[in-house]
Amino acid sequence: MGEGGGQVLRTSLALSLCLGRPFRIHRLRARRPRPGLRPQHLAAVRAAAAVGRAQVRGDEIGSRALSFAPGRLQAGDYAFDIGTAGSACLVLQTLLPALVRAPEPSTLEITGGTHVPMAPVWEFIEFVYLPLVAAMGPRFDARLLRPGYYPHGGGRLRCRIEPVPALCPLHLPARGPLLGLDAAVRISRLPRHVAGRERAVLRRRLGIAERDVTVIEDREAAGPGNAVWVRVRCRELTELFSAIGQRGRPAEDVAGACARAVRDYLDSGVPVGPHLADQLLLPLALAGGGSFVTGPPSRHARTNMAVIEAFTGPLFRTRELGSGRWEVTVGGSD
Ligand code: ATP
Repeated sequence: MGEGGGQVLRTSLALSLCLGRPFRIHRLRARRPRPGLRPQHLAAVRAAAAVGRAQVRGDEIGSRALSFAPGRLQAGDYAFDIGTAGSACLVLQTLLPALVRAPEPSTLEITGGTHVPMAPVWEFIEFVYLPLVAAMGPRFDARLLRPGYYPHGGGRLRCRIEPVPALCPLHLPARGPLLGLDAAVRISRLPRHVAGRERAVLRRRLGIAERDVTVIEDREAAGPGNAVWVRVRCRELTELFSAIGQRGRPAEDVAGACARAVRDYLDSGVPVGPHLADQLLLPLALAGGGSFVTGPPSRHARTNMAVIEAFTGPLFRTRELGSGRWEVTVGGSD
């Protein structure tokens, strides 16, 4: 379906738990170079099965078909270990939609990657995603206990969830005035000049003041690693853009990619950036209402809408507003 990636599976797991509805999925991640379940996806399946007391078939590495039949959702204290640098943040996002509407509070402790490519970095969850979901009713106490980089992983996050019976709709039509930019460069077991060069790029390309770029030297990470993020604080919401250092990728490229994403966002004038757009769809669907303005919907976002609608029936409306701005509306809310 659509992009054919891991999000199809995670969104299906989340909605299956929320609605108590079983699903079967075939040709899992068929459009990816290494198709089938990878450790992060398998961890999401096992975690969802534990929380939803589900019966599962096909839950092994490399599996291309899965059936998942949830039982009774059980809030509580859970710990999950992905066992690789697979994203702990993505596993958190799989479980959260069900647990924010559970009858009791829960605490999740997830071990894996917290600053890895192709996934939200921890600070995106902390400063962007959780505050927006919290604006819909639930409360969170979330902490990064230890960072985990690719390929060693071993990072750990903890999130306490205080649920609500129903999520309120969220509307994000505009971001309001820019309040400020700040940034961080995280390094673990790498020469300090890497952080210095990245900081210089962020300052030069985005005009961020020296005191607003923090260098965090991670001493407790399991292996070497590097991540850069820039937070864009506006009156109506905070957005965050990141890039991950990799062996052989010059520090200037890492910080440059992050700065470019920030520039694109600032120039676009929309409140909701491309990654946040696909991640807001599920909470809004569960609230049964809400809207946001974003750039042209990505293939990822369109796929996510299609997966959600496979469970709920038609739900989303997208409307081009002109000048590269799009409005996404859920349910009957205008
Ligand atoms: P696959 O290999 O199947 O693509 P996957 O499970 O790792 O596997 P995707 O289906 O691509 O991943 O989903 C990645 C998710 O991470 C998406 O929700 C996307 O918005 C989010 N994401 C990726 N990069 C960032 C980023 N820099 N900031 C915030 N979110 C991000």
